[in-house]
Amino acid sequence: MSGILPFDDLKAQVAEGRIDTVLVCIVDMQGRLMGKRFHAGHFIASAWEETHCCNYLLATDLEMATPEGYAATSWETGYGDYVMKPDLTTLRPVPWLEGTVMVLCDVLDHHTHQPVPHSPRAMLKSQIARLEAMGFDAMMATELEFFLFEKSFEEIRKGGFQDLTPISGYNEDYHIFQTTKEEHVMRPVRNHLWDAGIPIENSKGEAEAGQEELNIKYAAALDTADYHSIAKHAVKEIAWQNGHAASFLPKWHKDRVGSSSHVHQSLWKDGVPAFFDPEDSLGMSALMKNYVAGLLKYAPDYTYFLAPYINSYKRFMKGTFAPTRIIWSVDNRTAGFRLCGDGSKAIRIECRIGGSDLNPYLAMAGMLAAGIAGIEEELELQPPARGDVYQGETAMIPDSLEAARAALGGSALMRKVFGDAVVDHYRRAAEVEIEEFSRVVTDWEIARGFERA
Ligand code: ADP
Repeated sequence: MSGILPFDDLKAQVAEGRIDTVLVCIVDMQGRLMGKRFHAGHFIASAWEETHCCNYLLATDLEMATPEGYAATSWETGYGDYVMKPDLTTLRPVPWLEGTVMVLCDVLDHHTHQPVPHSPRAMLKSQIARLEAMGFDAMMATELEFFLFEKSFEEIRKGGFQDLTPISGYNEDYHIFQTTKEEHVMRPVRNHLWDAGIPIENSKGEAEAGQEELNIKYAAALDTADYHSIAKHAVKEIAWQNGHAASFLPKWHKDRVGSSSHVHQSLWKDGVPAFFDPEDSLGMSALMKNYVAGLLKYAPDYTYFLAPYINSYKRFMKGTFAPTRIIWSVDNRTAGFRLCGDGSKAIRIECRIGGSDLNPYLAMAGMLAAGIAGIEEELELQPPARGDVYQGETAMIPDSLEAARAALGGSALMRKVFGDAVVDHYRRAAEVEIEEFSRVVTDWEIARGFERA
């Protein structure tokens, strides 16, 4: 693992002619890398200090539209600039592109140079800072699930998204033979990310034809979010380089399993796992119980950050390993929250609600806010559920984008933690998706009603 690149090493590599391009990126509301490709000479001379982008980048949708209704950014305010401030601790090689390195930026106000409050990286940093003030570090891991398709993005788009043939013909969960056939994509994904300083654990076939999972070793929460965004980007680029499409849409076919992004969480104090108590029957400390109770109590409030699109909610179905209820359980994959590593120092809580389309910064910021509230309120944790919890009686996860939008907007906790302006910003983002979808006439409506209505 060659890892993160010190700035002086970049200067030396540019002087030697080995590096000529620097990708200078922010992470947008959708979790995508957005930015500019700098000539490395200009980056090391001046742009390393700061550069700029149009502030609509944090008020747009997947189509790069300019929807109305955002207080922070609008035609009236002239769509000015944000400062992109490179975080040089994230400078790393991009081994799958020739002569290229990458750096992630914080997004700052053009005039005050303060963090833009609705910037996903700033939102996560604010929760990490709160925890640090309490004496804790958040260690997190996100799992990335996605589908590989036979054809490329370009061929699929030109074909009107009709020929979606997965790269394998059968459920390849844990299969070695089938995944060998996909090694022309997955081997460079693992190795290039490793060489970019991202601690890949493994990849595996998942429980559907063409479905993959990529696992990255747990790390400090901000690093984990950075790893996730870069890994997702790399998967798409490396698949594209090999003539395939990689899709993180949570549900691309009604009869196929969806893709999730489970989030593993633990708090540590001075390098020691603070969630572990060897005296407890499951090994859970009182702190962990409070934290998990906070995750459960406030699950509706942050569900939008785990499931930000109309399509995200098509994944929550009984009997598919995607959760439907707000409940916790011990090593039980039907529950929204699963206790992992019980009785050991690896003890952690896995949230299984998030889809493969989540923005990891927002997801972790929302969950940390809920967990911290659980600690502050000293919430009591009910005993774990047993058996098939799809059949339970407990509260449901919001089952539509509209329901999650309402829960976020009505959340006193999210308003207290992130501020009204930030909550209203994301509530508007959800509303934009709902408005756009409601304007569309779907294939389903045509097929159902064209002749028979
Ligand atoms: P699953 O069976 O749900 O796919 P995996 O074993 O593949 O789960 O993934 C476990 C993830 O949990 C890995 O990314 C691993 O690094 C992470 N993990 C292990 N220990 C901890 C911990 N103490 N805190 C947070 N994450 C952890």
